[in-house]
Amino acid sequence: MRPEILFPLFAPVTSLKGVGPRVAPLLHKLAGEKVRDVLWLKPHSLVRRTPALLSAARDGEVMTFEVVVEEHQPSRGPQPWRIRVADPTGWMTLVFFGRFADQLESRHPVGAHRIVSGKVGDDRYGRQMVHPDYMVSPEKREEIPELEAIYPATEGLPPRRVRAFAMEALERAPALPEWQDPAFLARERFPTWREAMARLHAPESEADLSPLSPHNRRLAYDELLAHQLAMAQRKAARRREPAARIPASPLSDQVRTALPFAFTGAQTRALAEIGGDLGSGERMSRLIQGDVGSGKTVVAMCAMADVAAAGGQSALMAPTEILARQHYETISGPLEAIGVGTVLLTGRDKGAVRARKLAALAAGGAKVAVGTHALFQDDVAFERLQMVVIDEQHRFGVAERQRLQAKGQAVHLMAMSATPIPRTLELTVYGDLDVSRIDEKPPGRTPVATRAVPMNRMAEVVGRLREAAASGAQAFWICPLVSESETSDLAAAESRAAVLRETLGPSVGLIHGKLPPAEKDAVMADFADGKLSVLVATTVVEVGVNVPNATIMVIEQAERFGLAQLHQLRGRVGRGARESACVLLYDPPLSEVAQRRLDILRRTDDGFLIAEKDLELRGGGDALGLRQSGFPDYVFADPFAHRDLIATAGDDARLIIARDPELNDQRGKALRVLEELFDWKAGMGLKDAG
Ligand code: ADP
Ligand code: MG
Repeated sequence: MRPEILFPLFAPVTSLKGVGPRVAPLLHKLAGEKVRDVLWLKPHSLVRRTPALLSAARDGEVMTFEVVVEEHQPSRGPQPWRIRVADPTGWMTLVFFGRFADQLESRHPVGAHRIVSGKVGDDRYGRQMVHPDYMVSPEKREEIPELEAIYPATEGLPPRRVRAFAMEALERAPALPEWQDPAFLARERFPTWREAMARLHAPESEADLSPLSPHNRRLAYDELLAHQLAMAQRKAARRREPAARIPASPLSDQVRTALPFAFTGAQTRALAEIGGDLGSGERMSRLIQGDVGSGKTVVAMCAMADVAAAGGQSALMAPTEILARQHYETISGPLEAIGVGTVLLTGRDKGAVRARKLAALAAGGAKVAVGTHALFQDDVAFERLQMVVIDEQHRFGVAERQRLQAKGQAVHLMAMSATPIPRTLELTVYGDLDVSRIDEKPPGRTPVATRAVPMNRMAEVVGRLREAAASGAQAFWICPLVSESETSDLAAAESRAAVLRETLGPSVGLIHGKLPPAEKDAVMADFADGKLSVLVATTVVEVGVNVPNATIMVIEQAERFGLAQLHQLRGRVGRGARESACVLLYDPPLSEVAQRRLDILRRTDDGFLIAEKDLELRGGGDALGLRQSGFPDYVFADPFAHRDLIATAGDDARLIIARDPELNDQRGKALRVLEELFDWKAGMGLKDAG
């Protein structure tokens, strides 16, 4: 239940003065539906309204002048009302549009002294100021704030109105009980929450706008702690549910030793961590993070052997049919060899075949199910489902993952992701999971030779491609998502495929997001079987698809992709022992940052390092890219500027929950106010992995 002290902040924006039916939707769009959301609008810049001389006026700047009114030029037809004003160093025209303009003459008679403040324009009409922000007599100069915070605005709602609403929201903001540790506050020199809010809306200098200023750090820390707390509580709740204790078994050792290769150190470590979870009697919630091809699937396979040895069942779910099929091909042989029945269940299974598979799962004859969305359909039942493995976990919705887990009791969860997240951000994205990193590649892989090539040398690239294809090599050709519209991107990919067919013949395939799933699978299968030599694709190419014979990856307009994405695309080649190449085609000239990004990619193949460097280069500026990697949509916390606070908040939250799991002591009660203030619970389901 929401504490009463927060009621004023959770009132609708219409409770603010001047917010009626016209303004409310604008504020909703800009901020949100509650007073709290308006309180959380942040000024992005400052205007200093210190008077200057007209001779110093500069086009485009917000400036302030002390002037004398010299002449009124009344409006005629569509012409605005103009007032000529001057100081000893020059003159300018004030411009007013609108019907009330004729009051201007009585309010500002010729000869009157005025202070005017607003944006200076210098164009073919001469020097002017359209609708000054302020125009007051010198006695009323205190009506003009010396320093004014400028807020984001929207059509129909100018920055100054927004500021007025924010100030009113601030007046409504009560002092809240302190939820932070006093020693920590003192050490960081953090103000109270109320003081921090007040400073946010009344910055005293440019430094106050910086995310590194004490009040902004305080607000960021509050937000991070609220989020970390919510995740720590969820994790603790999951832990309290008793789950089947699954000991390490000889079966798992058997499958493992039967493999034609030895585990890497990182794989061994991950498997040991999983073993610890499964044997603990608590529900496992573990994410295995590792580049495409780092060997996550075989680790999962060993854990599934343990579950089977203990008499339980596991389900491995992949986002596409072709991926499910590949997983099945990887693990069914070794598992069947030790007597663990394994079935593949996809949307393609119909009639008697499907009935037979369902019966095997329901009766417990099959211990492992590999499949797609088909796995969580209502008619699928398990005898004793004890572990669920989700591949590419972000490709599934919470509800989908939960439907599968609901087919057993207190089911252990293992999620797998090939999207490397910088370590500093791991807590914000996966704070409610335990994370194992497979940060080591199996030996014997040849690094992919990566080159950046300007677009105007494309003919050369195509020529090489023809030679390679003639000698049996296969290539991916990726076209970027350029525009917002899928249709025009599709057109680009289609015309690229047509151009390549002119040179390379009919063995050029095309795959894109608009293709029905069955056709997508068919094209992918043709490519995997070697019937196509070049596969032109928009970015939909399934992450993780294994086509060992594909050795060339061409990425068009590489400068438009995020580093992590480029890295993942490149990861689709270099699977075998053969030499592979990645060509990054770009439109010259490259910006300096783009240049550095492509350089990083050329120099390293380590997904974690790339993610780390990417974050550094973006400085946290690329909100979209971050959101794609699962970074929460924070209001105050900045992934880069506040990276030190993320770890602290994580530790803090764990300690709090360990000492006071129900948040009942004095600080605990205040922390509940914090949690409600940020309301993480509402949006949290979306990010829930279990
Ligand atoms: P991921 O799921 O992380 O993308 P996979 O488990 O599918 O990776 O492994 C990719 C390929 O590498 C598979 O063919 C697998 O058999 C092989 N592989 C896995 N671990 C090793 C290892 N330690 N040494 C050599 N090959 C390995
Ligand atoms: Mg995989």
